[in-house]
Order: sequence, then C-alpha cells, then structure tokens
Amino acid sequence: ARRIGPGMVQCYDPAMDSRALEILQRERLLREAIATGAFVLHFQPQTDLRTGELCGLEALVRWRHPHRGIVGPQEFIGFCEARGLISPIGRWVLREACRQMKAWLDAGWPQVPVAVNLSALEFRQRDMVAEVAEVLQSTGLPPSCLEIELTESVLMHPEDGAQDTLNALKALGVRIAIDDFGTGYSSLAYLKRYPLDQIKIDRSFVMDTPDNADDVAIVTAIVQMARSLQLQTVAEGVETQAQVELLRALGCDICQGHVVAAPMEAAALAAWWEAWQAG
Ligand code: C2E
Ligand code: CA
Ligand code: CA
Ligand code: CA
Repeated sequence: ARRIGPGMVQCYDPAMDSRALEILQRERLLREAIATGAFVLHFQPQTDLRTGELCGLEALVRWRHPHRGIVGPQEFIGFCEARGLISPIGRWVLREACRQMKAWLDAGWPQVPVAVNLSALEFRQRDMVAEVAEVLQSTGLPPSCLEIELTESVLMHPEDGAQDTLNALKALGVRIAIDDFGTGYSSLAYLKRYPLDQIKIDRSFVMDTPDNADDVAIVTAIVQMARSLQLQTVAEGVETQAQVELLRALGCDICQGHVVAAPMEAAALAAWWEAWQAG
C-alpha cells in the first residue's frame, strides 16, 4: 500500500488485475472466434396459432467456445458491443441466416421470413441498409423472407435518423418487428410513426399466464392494440398448452417457444420440419 493523500491509502488489488486480464483474454478469444468463424446459428420455429403451420423462423447466434462448448448470446453480445466487435458478428449472422433460408426455400420450404436480431448499435451503423441490400442481392433471398428484429431502444431517439433508416429498410421489402415489446420504456407514439409489421410480446408477460391475472390483462391489451393498428403479434417464450389456448382465444397471431420447439441447428430444424409436416 502507498499513501496517495492525507488519510488515503491505495492498495494493490490483485482482483482488479485478474479482472482486467480476464477481459483481455475474453477479447482475444472472441477476436479469434471472429477470425476463424467459430459461430453457429440456431433457428427457432414460429407457428400460426390458428392453423399450426410454420410461419417464420428466428435466427439466434451461438459461439462455439474452444473449451466450454456452445455459449449463448447473453454471454458475448453485450461484451462484443462494448469492445467494438459486434459488427463482424452481426454481418455474419445476417448473411448466414439469409443463405440458409434461401437454401430452405430452394428445397421447397414455405415462403416464411427468417428473423435476424439487430442491436441498437448495429442498427445505427451507417452502412447497415446497404449491407442488408447487398446480402439480399448476393444470397438471392426474397426481401419479404427477411425480418429485422429491433428493440424499442432503437426507436427511442428519433433524432438519430431511425425514421429514415426504417423507411429505407421497408423500401427494400424487408419486414420489421419490435422485439421484447413492453420492456423498453419507450412511448407508444412510435407504433404509428414507423413502418412496422410485427410486435413480439416479451416472454416476461407470457410466462406467468394464464394464472397471473395482471399478465393476462397486459397480453390482452397488447394483442388488441396491435390488431387495431394492423400489426401482427408474436408471443415469445410460450411453454405450455394452457398458454397456447389463452393466446389463441385472445387472437394473438403467432406462437414461439419451447411448447413448439427450442432453437436448434439447421440440420435438426430440418428434421423437426419433416416430422412437423408428417404429424
Ligand atoms: P430474444 O431475441 O428475445 O430471443 C429469444 C430468447 O428466448 C432466445 O434466447 C431463445 O432461446 C429463448 N427462448 C425461446 N423460447 C423460449 C421458451 O419457451 N422459454 C424460455 N425460457 N426461453 C425461450 P437466446 O438464444 O439465449 O438469445 C438471447 C438474446 O440474445 C436474444 O433474445 C437476443 O436479444 C440476443 N441475440 C441472439 N442472437 C442474436 C444476434 O444474432 N444478434 C444480436 N444482436 N442479438 C442476438
Ligand atoms: Ca429476438
Ligand atoms: Ca425477444
Ligand atoms: Ca428477450
């Protein structure tokens, strides 16, 4: 320890060093992962609550960690954003999702959209719309088969040019969904201002239905509002048949959650799709 002022002593803190080291180590591993392409997409099906048919897929990224196996996005997306590493990952996700979806269309799958998550940081990147246009062009995926999922935080600052960016995406023919709806502290005014197609009701509102009356009231209100604004609704994180029945009765359009299937690798999804069609 050394004196750094009257009555103040600075101590050497080994924990701080090991934390800094851990961050550097993590960053090194992620840079390596980006360089070697150590990411994989899992796809989760979305089904029509009325007909039970497949009506969309969400692409969710995972990291093939050299020692820990498959690591979920919560553990690295935020970190990558903070360290300026998100853009190569986001670009890869977009291209890979479009490439895979085009391959499925070519194999005779229905013309459903694949949804890709864009963080606020990625959304604000200057060349984002051009990137989307280029990926659609080079993969040959019809624009209506790509859906971009954005959180409310993207729409909170209209001065950032969100309006122009959304209009430009829409002009490409891409679909736009609001992810985690109801969790973002934003005003509802954006619902009429922006060219949106879909609202995804956050899992936190769905998970305690039908038992929790407050959550039932919230989900009911969201579905009704979305319907009158002619926006499609997706319920996220649906796990039980009772939830499916409630959502269907409320007029929610689409179901996504473990009750249908968990996210899975492309090959497993293809097997799921075969079985789903047969059954
Ligand atoms: P999200 O967009 O809200 O994705 C839904 C999350 O809920 C996924 O977690 C999914 O595996 C999980 N989930 C789906 N159905 C159920 C269910 O029935 N029960 C429960 N308990 N969970 C369910 P995952 O894959 O770990 O992704 C977490 C978050 O990471 C995503 O939340 C999204 O915000 C972000 N993320 C994932 N992929 C990407 C990506 O490519 N780019 C960006 N920027 N973010 C991504
Ligand atoms: Ca999402
Ligand atoms: Ca979500
Ligand atoms: Ca979420």
